[in-house]
Amino acid sequence: GQDRQLPIIRQLDETVINRIAAGEVVERPASAVKELVENALDAGATRIEVAYADGGKRIIRVSDDGCGMSASDLPLALSRHATSKIDGSDLLDIRSFGFRGEALASLGAVGRLTVTSRLRHSAEAARIVVTGGAMGSVTPAALARGTVVELRDLFYATPARLKFMRTDRAEAQAITDVIKRLAMAEPAVSFTLRDITADGEGRITFRADSETGDLFDALRGRLSRILGSEFTENAIVIDTERDGLRLTGFAALPTYSRGSAIAQYLFVNGRPVRDKLLTGALRAAYMDFLSRDRHPAAALFIDCDPQLVDVNVHPAKAEVRFREPGTARGLIVSGLRHAIADAGHRASSTVAG
Ligand code: ADP
Ligand code: MG
Repeated sequence: GQDRQLPIIRQLDETVINRIAAGEVVERPASAVKELVENALDAGATRIEVAYADGGKRIIRVSDDGCGMSASDLPLALSRHATSKIDGSDLLDIRSFGFRGEALASLGAVGRLTVTSRLRHSAEAARIVVTGGAMGSVTPAALARGTVVELRDLFYATPARLKFMRTDRAEAQAITDVIKRLAMAEPAVSFTLRDITADGEGRITFRADSETGDLFDALRGRLSRILGSEFTENAIVIDTERDGLRLTGFAALPTYSRGSAIAQYLFVNGRPVRDKLLTGALRAAYMDFLSRDRHPAAALFIDCDPQLVDVNVHPAKAEVRFREPGTARGLIVSGLRHAIADAGHRASSTVAG
């Protein structure tokens, strides 16, 4: 007979497991940036600087002034399923961006990762390097505060994935988009984005406006910086509530619509999301006010008890699932319709009187 090889079941080693998992967490440079900036936000940073080279393929560096990590915690931070953000007792009560403990382990498996950090009030900083999944030892380092994570040669260890990278320009654009979304979600945090290769040019700064403590003012300032002051000047303030869900933000007047749905930004409990239910609700809200080929620009924030929404649906956490989807949809549809109608009445009464 034929000598067909019989299957052998093997336990995969940690590096291979991390590389497989990395495929879900990091698709492209922008997803690495997203994970690193979310970590900085979770660490309570007030200033975050992102620098990249070659569309993030060669270098991504995220520096923050957050709480930092101790030397002894560094190896743990880079291990899979190790996190300081949840203790596992209640997966329905997640208040941080991160909770899976996968990002740093994944990035260390598919690139050359260097983490330098100084725990707040600690006398010194420490550094650890992971290359293609192989972790080096912790060494002393110099850093005034916070954390610097540098990722070089993303996907060098997984050439198949490297082939799927788009042009530097397209990847840089995706990075910019990630930063814009997170900057909208966190108007009290200063962000700087810099293209290392484009000397001088290609720097974007979103400075936190600390003059007023008002969150709506801070958001308005941030949105006019990102979406243009024409948007905020032609947008209605949204602030409404229903069955434990609160909807706030800015939505364009029907007279200020666009030819594409590109300027629609949705957030759930401070997380940027791409969610069909919510974008569908947005479209429905404007149905009576806009022709089919026109789209409203909007930046809308739904906030609720974490128990009412599951953020654990997707490893990249771009999708969420509401416990009562109908309530979320209804909140957007009726909240926006009322706000638009009110704005219309006010405008016509101004003209009349
Ligand atoms: P997660 O964010 O899901 O916990 P990560 O792999 O992204 O998983 O990070 C692992 C841990 O490393 C975090 O829980 C946190 O304790 C620590 N950490 C990562 N980035 C930072 C940072 N910028 N500042 C302080 N601690 C950090
Ligand atoms: Mg994280």
